[in-house]
Amino acid sequence: MADRRVRVRFAPSPTGALHIGGVRTALYNYLFARQHNGDLVFRIEDTDSHRFVPGAEDYILESFKWLGIGFDEGVSFGGNFGPYRQSERKDIYKKYVKILLDTDKAYIAFDTPEELEAKRQEIPNFQYDATTRTQMRNSLTLGKGATDELIAQGNQFVVRFKIEPNEDIVVHDIIRGDVTINSNILDDKVLYKSADNLPTYHLANIVDDHLMEISHVIRGEEWLSSAPLHVLLYRAFNWEDSMPKFAHLPLLLKPEGKGKLSKRDGDRLGFPVFPLEWHDPKTGETSMGYRECGYLPDALVNFLALLGWNPGDDQELLSMDELIKKFDISHCSKAGARFDIKKCVWFNHEYILLKSSKEIACDFEQILIQHGVHETFDRIVTVVEMMKSRVDFVKELWDLCSFFFVAPIEYDAKTVKKRWKDYSVKQMTELKVLINDLDDFSIENQEAVVMKWIEEKEYNTGDVMNAFRLTLVGEGKGPHMFDISAFLGKKETINRMERAIESIKI
Ligand code: GLU
Repeated sequence: MADRRVRVRFAPSPTGALHIGGVRTALYNYLFARQHNGDLVFRIEDTDSHRFVPGAEDYILESFKWLGIGFDEGVSFGGNFGPYRQSERKDIYKKYVKILLDTDKAYIAFDTPEELEAKRQEIPNFQYDATTRTQMRNSLTLGKGATDELIAQGNQFVVRFKIEPNEDIVVHDIIRGDVTINSNILDDKVLYKSADNLPTYHLANIVDDHLMEISHVIRGEEWLSSAPLHVLLYRAFNWEDSMPKFAHLPLLLKPEGKGKLSKRDGDRLGFPVFPLEWHDPKTGETSMGYRECGYLPDALVNFLALLGWNPGDDQELLSMDELIKKFDISHCSKAGARFDIKKCVWFNHEYILLKSSKEIACDFEQILIQHGVHETFDRIVTVVEMMKSRVDFVKELWDLCSFFFVAPIEYDAKTVKKRWKDYSVKQMTELKVLINDLDDFSIENQEAVVMKWIEEKEYNTGDVMNAFRLTLVGEGKGPHMFDISAFLGKKETINRMERAIESIKI
C-alpha cells in the first residue's frame, strides 16, 4: 500500500452555505493532494433529501473558484469514478446493502417512529444495539418468511448495521494517533431507508471512498465519532486493505470562551462565517461573506491555513505554492484553533501590501466607477501607490482618497475652525500666485519654491500647509501636500484654492 496514489475528497452535503471550517477542510485536502501530486475529488453527499437546499452546490463551487482551490474531478469537473453526486448512485448502494444483508452483517428493521419512541420512554438511554435488538421488530426477531412478507406487503423498512458488542475498535488517525472506542457505545446505525430508496451518510460515504479509491480522509473533528463505524464497515466489506488513512482536523473555536465557532458568533461580533454572501432560500435571510466584505481570497486562504497548522517557524505569510510545499498533515494540532478575525484583517492588510499597486488598482477602479468616477488607470495606480499602506481593505481607499478624484464642495467645520486663520486668505492668495507661476510642477520643485517663499515671508510652515491642505482636500487628512498638488496638476490645484478662498468663511 506504500505506493498507493494519493486521492482525497471534499464531500459536502448541500444543506446550505459552506461554513468557513469547511473551507479550511477543503483547503487542507487541496494542499495535501497537490503536494503529493494526487487527486482532489469533489463529491456531493446529498442522500438526506430533507436537508437539501437548492443553490448550495453552486454556492460551494463558486466559493472554491474564488479562493483558488481547484479540484481534479467530481461534480462539475468530471472524472472516471462518477457519478459524483450520491443521489445519482442509488443503484450502486443497493448492491452493497445487499452484500451486508446476505453476509448477516446487517438486518432489516420495521420499527415505526412511534414504536421507537415508545421504547425510548420505556428504557432510559435506549440504544438500538445487541442488547435491545432482540426486543424489536426486525428480521432477526421475525425470521426470513415474516420479513419477506412484510416487505411484499409494502411495509417501509430500514437496514441496520449489526454491531458486535464489546469490541475495541481502533481508529488510526494521522493527527490524533490511535483512538480506541468500545463498540458497546455504538448503536446499530441505519444504513439504508426504503422510504426514499437511499442509503444514509455512513454507507454512502464509505462505499464511495472505497470505489473512488480514496487514500486519505481529511475532515473536521466532528466526524471523528463516525470513524469507528466506518472502520467496522470497511471490515464488513473486507476492504480493510484499502481503508483510507484518517486525519481529523482540529475544531475552529469561538473567538472567546468555549465551544466551536458558530454563525451566531459571527453575527454577534460582526464578521462573516461564510466565504461568499449567502441568501438562504428557506428563510430569506442574507448572511455576510468574506468576498463581499472585501477580504482578498489569498489572504483568507493564508489565514485559514494557519488555523490548526503552522510551518514550525515564525513565517506567517505563505503563498499557496509555499503552503503546498510546507504543509504537513501530521503536524496539525489536536487542540482546537481559536478563530481570531483581527488576525484575518491583518492578513488582508499584508496582502494589500504584497500585491502590486496595479493589482489593487484593478479592484479600486471598480469602486471608483460605482461612485461615478472615471479615471485613467495610471492615475488610479498612482493614488493606490501613495495610499495602500494605510488600509486593511481596498474599499477603505474610497473614504481615504476620494478627494484625489472629486474636488471638495464643503469644508470640514472642525478643521476650518482649527486651521483657517484670519490671515489664511491672504497667505493662500499669495501661494496661489506663486504656484501659478511655476513651470516645473514636480513634487520636488513645488516643495523647494514654496518652502523658500515661506522662509522669506517668515510664515509658519504648519499654518500654510494646513490651510493649503484644507483648500485641496476639504479636511485635514491625506498624504504629503505636494504629492496631492502634483497629482491634481496646476490647473485643478489653482481651481480648488480659488474656490476655498471664496467660500471658506470664519
Ligand atoms: N458529507 C459530510 C460533510 O458534510 C462528509 C464528511 C466526511 O468528510 O466524511 O462534511
